[in-house]
Amino acid sequence: MKKQHVQHNIAFIGAGYVGLVSGVCMAEIGHNVILVDNNKEKIAKLKKGGIPIFEPGLEDLVKKNVKAKRLSFTTDIKQAVQKSDAIFIAVNTPPLANGKADLSYVAGAAREIAETADAYKIVIDKSTVPVKTGERVGKTIKQYNKRNIDFDIVSNPEFLREGTAIHDFLNPDRIVIGVENKRAEKFMKELYAPIKAPVIVTDVKSAELIKHASNSFLAMKISFTNAVARICELSGANIDQVTEGMGIDKRIGKAFLKAGIGWGGSCFPKDVSAFDTIADELGYNFGLLKEVHKINKQAQELFVQKIEDALWVTKGKTIAVWGLAFKPNTDDMRNAPSIPIIEKLHKDGAKIVAYDPKAEETSKESLGKKVTYAKSMYTALKKADALVILTDWEEFKNPDWEKVRSSLTNPIVIDGRNMFEPDEMEKKGFVYHSIGRNGKSH
Ligand code: NAD
Repeated sequence: MKKQHVQHNIAFIGAGYVGLVSGVCMAEIGHNVILVDNNKEKIAKLKKGGIPIFEPGLEDLVKKNVKAKRLSFTTDIKQAVQKSDAIFIAVNTPPLANGKADLSYVAGAAREIAETADAYKIVIDKSTVPVKTGERVGKTIKQYNKRNIDFDIVSNPEFLREGTAIHDFLNPDRIVIGVENKRAEKFMKELYAPIKAPVIVTDVKSAELIKHASNSFLAMKISFTNAVARICELSGANIDQVTEGMGIDKRIGKAFLKAGIGWGGSCFPKDVSAFDTIADELGYNFGLLKEVHKINKQAQELFVQKIEDALWVTKGKTIAVWGLAFKPNTDDMRNAPSIPIIEKLHKDGAKIVAYDPKAEETSKESLGKKVTYAKSMYTALKKADALVILTDWEEFKNPDWEKVRSSLTNPIVIDGRNMFEPDEMEKKGFVYHSIGRNGKSH
């Protein structure tokens, strides 16, 4: 017999990548979910069956749960709070100019919850926040809650990855729950009961730190690999062989040992900075994190240098670009490595013709008129002096190389994601540059 799980009424404040995916997944596992956002257009679109972001499988899952009446959307926070036992805060925490996390959206959401709650509520922070934010959320709620209502504050960081977000939410490596008491722990365990994964119960501050430490550690792995890739280039070794030999060691692991143009996206850059700045505030200079950032920036600069070396002069050249999004299967352009790379090439006078399967619209916001958009990967190549690969989309994995070669003016491929084998590319007649694999120094 199928086990019956407790069904809860919950709300998510913030219907962005995390709020929308987590909310629909919570509905999928049986809870009643209200998604709140103060962006009226976003909510209007969702109400009409539209999806404001690209995420594989999301549209169908939203439709299914709206139809089952477990999922609804609103801009009315008061109604959502009053109808729910627990409220997730899933708002954005972007970086400030000084690297600190901008917590004004979290503070705003906490205040609105406090002002509208009419009975005991569990307030769950899902946004990625610096350690001790839960404490401040608790104080804010006490300050603005005139009815003296009881609250529990929980930290429940999210580890989903854009592009595989639904799968990640429903099949996580772990569920982290930072709580202050058994009452909140029981509720959180009930909420996640249908998901089979280890549940790590900690205090609130430790849960907050787990998220920052995990993301910073992963960024560190990539930066470390890129530093080793540079040594490979300078010494004539091969980064693929080095990382294979490293990753087979279970203590190291294979994941996140891929050399390339570095990490980007909406999380790593801001989380590494926020972790570094909160460490500073607490009185610890986390120099390692500063270096992790520096190596990442260098990886992008070295890649531009590779393009310049390959083309000699970039001014007046046409460069075809495959991929703009910070990684495949997403349209997210926030802090994509493609942005500084293209900006530099554009500044130097190159003409950029780019193709990305999903990120054309989103990239217009950051790159504007610096890029001409092609309708397909092949039309981008027409009369281009070189092909530059910036995102390893599946679509680019098996191109028609004949077509590529005949479209390009010069058969030059500069691959920032190490998608192809250097020997094979040379056999196909290309001058192929990649990261840490050609033994050439610059
Ligand atoms: P997002 O910008 O896509 O979405 C945030 C949403 O919150 C927006 O739609 C915004 O309109 C809404 N919002 C802000 N203040 C509000 C308020 N007071 N009332 C109602 N709505 C409000 O951001 P995101 O990518 O979903 O990230 C949210 C948090 O989750 C961040 O802290 C992020 O670091 C973290 N996170 C993100 C990912 C990811 O892959 N995107 C993964 C794990 C964790």
